[in-house]
Amino acid sequence: MPANQLGKLIVITGPSGVGKGTLVNFLLQRHPQLKLSISATTRQPRPGEVEGVNYFFLNKKDFETAILNQELLEWAEYAGNYYGTPKAGVIEEIKQGNYIILEIELAGARSVADLFPEALRIFILPPSIEELEQRIRNRGTNTEESIANRLEIAQKEIAARDEFDLQIVNDDLEQAIALLEAAIFPSS
Ligand code: 5GP
Repeated sequence: MPANQLGKLIVITGPSGVGKGTLVNFLLQRHPQLKLSISATTRQPRPGEVEGVNYFFLNKKDFETAILNQELLEWAEYAGNYYGTPKAGVIEEIKQGNYIILEIELAGARSVADLFPEALRIFILPPSIEELEQRIRNRGTNTEESIANRLEIAQKEIAARDEFDLQIVNDDLEQAIALLEAAIFPSS
């Protein structure tokens, strides 16, 4: 099968608050052939988040059932909640030639690397830890405890950056997007 008929799995990871969501949203708007996999989570919805758009919000029992039924491609526990990628669709979409983006944390990205060695794995870095803390605070939806927890996890995640095909610092938004586009569509 010619390479251009195959889809791609693109894994975007990096600490919470680094701006993965913003970057991915820009990519989705500019490139209709890109699709975002909607994750399942047991976290409470933030104000404005919509079921089936931002996440599938599940209770713990239903998430654990999904794990047992092997409905998830990968899953991880992050800051006291479960997060996972529904299997349905992802593999089919890739076979159909579509480009699927997974926006997930480190443990999940590692599982996907084992399952799909050919996946393109990108790590998004903050300009600094201070800037990351500011971005997490600006969200305004996290408690002090949760901010401290997310920053602690962030330090550990950043230490794993070298495992990835590409590292991009999300400082200048346009520049970060240009680097992502060059990695995802190398010949264009
Ligand atoms: P948040 O609570 O800020 O939406 O997400 C917390 C972290 O979980 C982020 O780093 C996000 O990328 C990650 N995440 C979101 N969906 C998934 C998923 O399906 N699997 C894994 N492993 N991580 C996810």
